[in-house]
Amino acid sequence: MGRIPQEIIDQVLDRTDIVEVISGYVNIKKAGRNFKGCCPFHDEKTPSFVVSPDKQIYHCFGCSAGGNAVGFVMRYENMEFPEALRMLAEKAGVEVPEQRADDGMGGSISAKLYEVNGLAAEYYHKLMKSRHGAAAREYLKARGMTGGTADTFMIGYSPDSWESLRKYCETKGFSPAVLRKAGLTVPSDKGRGDYDRFRKRIIFPIFNERGKIVAFGGRVMDDSLPKYINSPETPVYNKSGVLYGLNFARKSMRDKGCAVIVEGYMDVIMTHQYGVKNIVATSGTALTSRQAAMLKRYTKTAVMLFDSDQAGETASLRGLDILIEHGMEVRVAALPSGEDPDSYIKKKGREAFESVLEQAKGLFEYKLDLLIGRLGKRDVGGIVDEMLPTISKVGNAVVQSDYLKKLAERLGVHEASLRYELGKVKPDYSYRSGNESGPPSGKRASYKTGELHLLGLALTDGKRASRIREETPPGSFSEGPVKDVILRVFDLYGKGVTAREIPGRLLDEYGSDEQRRGAVVQALARAEIGGDPDKAMDDCLCYLKKERRDEKLRSLTLRLKKAQESNNGDEMRELLVKINKIHKEKVT
Ligand SMILES: [Zn+2]
Repeated sequence: MGRIPQEIIDQVLDRTDIVEVISGYVNIKKAGRNFKGCCPFHDEKTPSFVVSPDKQIYHCFGCSAGGNAVGFVMRYENMEFPEALRMLAEKAGVEVPEQRADDGMGGSISAKLYEVNGLAAEYYHKLMKSRHGAAAREYLKARGMTGGTADTFMIGYSPDSWESLRKYCETKGFSPAVLRKAGLTVPSDKGRGDYDRFRKRIIFPIFNERGKIVAFGGRVMDDSLPKYINSPETPVYNKSGVLYGLNFARKSMRDKGCAVIVEGYMDVIMTHQYGVKNIVATSGTALTSRQAAMLKRYTKTAVMLFDSDQAGETASLRGLDILIEHGMEVRVAALPSGEDPDSYIKKKGREAFESVLEQAKGLFEYKLDLLIGRLGKRDVGGIVDEMLPTISKVGNAVVQSDYLKKLAERLGVHEASLRYELGKVKPDYSYRSGNESGPPSGKRASYKTGELHLLGLALTDGKRASRIREETPPGSFSEGPVKDVILRVFDLYGKGVTAREIPGRLLDEYGSDEQRRGAVVQALARAEIGGDPDKAMDDCLCYLKKERRDEKLRSLTLRLKKAQESNNGDEMRELLVKINKIHKEKVT
């Protein structure tokens, strides 16, 4: 794939103000030289998310997310680098040349796929409205969909033909290879070229978070099978990273402070038509960690709306633990028997639908009621087995404690025994989205803090960097990302790169190397909160020396012990002299 020239990237970054970019997404307030707010990438109530206008970077003390403006947009909007850069370029008024590629597809693959998907969606939508789409219109009308709704969601019709879409797209200049890559066509096993994947179906374009079409779902209009076919995964479509309707729902989700999760396309579309807009669908798959993280950026509360037949399934509730793990408050609502959101809102209207949502119970209560109803109160073991994994995922200790207490009360058992059982439940790390650093183990962590702080001081000031360099002989820093980064920092200063440029340069260089990026960002954060930098530097250098000395002492003492065991008098004397010498240094 072609790369965007460095000078263009620099131009975009030069003309972009990170404070302006981030304040479009996060509520940040001026605090000294920086801006502060609550981190959009992890759950917090006290702000630890800092934006530095001087360095044009952001960082979070809580989860150590950090980077420049492009990095922020990539992470927040779930975009690839070129896409994020283009978005900023547009705002900054910088023209980014179209990427040229050697893959024969003439440009960035993602861009091509978005383009051909958009073209296909328009084609299907137009056909639905044309004389060829009479049956499709009948079908949609029978389901209660208005023309306006069909336009909003770009509902389409794929004709009963093996090649009409392929031919249409080819006349618009798209190669068979691009069509196939987009999943719009399927290669024929009889060697007769590719044929259209969707035939004689109602077409639901699937939008990503930002409203670009990434895939399609096709539904039959009668009872034939398969009822639905969907696009395969492509470079722009990953099922686990898309929530149907999110592009239409995000504003309303933010405004209402709540996301409603349903199952099907039609549930989203029809509730939207009736004015309930904070609604998304998982499209039949279990909720993934990525989807939970996406929702979490808009709201902290999710209401799961089940059809009546799913509502009795504890298995379908288990998937909701993932939302809890992301720190969301989860509530569960169930529709009356035989109804789904689409049918219910059509029959009863918006108010009745909204009152179902308002009556949603907390996941904890819902699950407990369900289990007691099913198993009976006497099956304490069965109930506890289902409840404890959910409780164990609650991050907030107070809430967790409260749940344990309630559970104990309802079941008539001792809270202490539940607590003991809870201790045995292993957290399921496979749920986690990564990014967690290891547990801070006292000494090691504080020792590294000193190194990190020195790195931060070196990063922010060239003069300090050269003093640190002078006073830390090889071996002063422990092996690892911090050492790697500080050596690179010395190197860059040596080449005349300035303190203002270095952080951004490093973040670019390290790309997806989270450990080194993390070191840069955390180090900057440390340096900024560290008070008087010169005093901090003295302390840290001193600390580093002391650490090295203690380490040397430890190893000498160990050797002394061995020499004693083997009665090696000469070596013992020699070691004692060394040890004493170090002790004397220590006093002065
Ligand atoms: Zn954070």
